[in-house]
Amino acid sequence: MADEVFQPADPVPESGVYQVQHYRHRLYHEVTILHGSAFPLCSECGTNVRFRLVRTAPPIELDRNFSNVSRMKGHVAR
Ligand SMILES: [Zn+2]
Repeated sequence: MADEVFQPADPVPESGVYQVQHYRHRLYHEVTILHGSAFPLCSECGTNVRFRLVRTAPPIELDRNFSNVSRMKGHVAR
């Protein structure tokens, strides 16, 4: 899983930190991407950008010790 590489329009399998690999215009960097969306195009290298999962990081709303706090504020916990 950790070595799986994704490209734009692929569905994001898990929320977490992804390493972004651009095509020739920028060094690798890391971003957080949430499950439920698709990997985006890069404004510079378009479909040539690649994403590799570094580590998963579930949203705090899904954590068992924080979901109740979220509910008290009126948010819907999943
Ligand atoms: Zn790029």
